[in-house]
Amino acid sequence: MTMQEYIADAEGALLHTYNRYQIVLEKGDGVYLYDYDGKKYLDFVAGIAVFALGYHNEEYNEALKGQIDKLIHTSNYYYNVPAVNAAKALKAASGMDRVFFTNSGAEAIEGAIKTARKYAYLKDGSTDHEIIAMEHSFHGRTMGALSVTGNPKYREAFQPMIGNIRFAQMNDIESVKSQLTDKTCAILLETVQGEGGLVPATEEFLKEIRRICDERDILMILDEIQCGMGRCGTMFAWQRYGVKPDVMTSAKALGCGVPVGAFLMTEKVGAHSLAAGDHGTTYGGNPLACKAVETVFDLFEKEHVLENVGKVAPYLEEKLEELKEKNPAIIERRGTGLMQGLVFDRPVGDIIQAAISKGLILINAGPNIIRFVPPLVIGREHVDEMIAILETCLPK
Ligand SMILES: *Cc1c(COP(=O)(O)O)cnc(C)c1O
Repeated sequence: MTMQEYIADAEGALLHTYNRYQIVLEKGDGVYLYDYDGKKYLDFVAGIAVFALGYHNEEYNEALKGQIDKLIHTSNYYYNVPAVNAAKALKAASGMDRVFFTNSGAEAIEGAIKTARKYAYLKDGSTDHEIIAMEHSFHGRTMGALSVTGNPKYREAFQPMIGNIRFAQMNDIESVKSQLTDKTCAILLETVQGEGGLVPATEEFLKEIRRICDERDILMILDEIQCGMGRCGTMFAWQRYGVKPDVMTSAKALGCGVPVGAFLMTEKVGAHSLAAGDHGTTYGGNPLACKAVETVFDLFEKEHVLENVGKVAPYLEEKLEELKEKNPAIIERRGTGLMQGLVFDRPVGDIIQAAISKGLILINAGPNIIRFVPPLVIGREHVDEMIAILETCLPK
């Protein structure tokens, strides 16, 4: 079959929830992808901040193959070795105390919401607690995650959402305070907003939220699904700020391609929230997914991934700034680490189309922003290659 025939078949079989780019990706190697016709692409998307280690990492692949031959799945009613190792690695990397594995980011958010409600319920027995989330946030597509996602366009047709969610402005502490009530049980935000436009929380904002949460004994929940796992230069983005959340979520690069997420909490929250019977999942934390997590943490260390981000991210930032200086259509560069965005004065769809046709995979974050979330193993030469292609795709 030709690539066009596969695309036609896909459009005949898959539910049309994505306007897909017209390529069928077949294999990957390092920071490059190949389509069904053998055309090579430099990948600055990494499956949306997922494939941190790059494609076709021999050790990662072998670890998974070994686990497939041993045991792919068993129920959470029994223990399995990869889940133990993965949970210990996550604890060590985050300094959090308790881990629950999920299949996705959205499910990790669901777990975090349930944790916050139960924590508050155990304190006062009431069932009308509120959560404060941020405008322009993105937390996933399930009903709970959608309810805390600050983008009315995603929510509109699916009303009613879960109740008692209030929205505040990111980096505006007064707007958070104005939404606080006696019923507030948690404040939820991405440490660095991804989908909403590559907006890092300020240190001041996070510290003030921490203070409010401590004062009221309510939970600070940080969504690290996109910005975590080394993308911003530390294993989790909040670790740069001198604050620690009560609950955090992870997914995307956590499994580097195998679907897995997690929500984590401190010992105190773990002891006073979800208990036996309160939450569960069939697949979450299965041996295959957890082998991926365990291996990802091993390889981050072995391949010095954080050091690489520390070296390449400033270079990417510098090159994007240069591009901005040269091109008046670019209004702003923002983001942090290997999670960067260029804000344009116009929709970026055509630029991305042009880049893909020239062998560079990019993605947007909203209509006017190009997002750069490459594998964390890229080198400076890949940044140069990306910039050289992108330059030829920009409006004159
Ligand atoms: C992608 C994402 C999610 C949702 O994760 P899924 O695995 O797609 O359910 C939640 N929060 C953030 C910040 C994300 O980037």
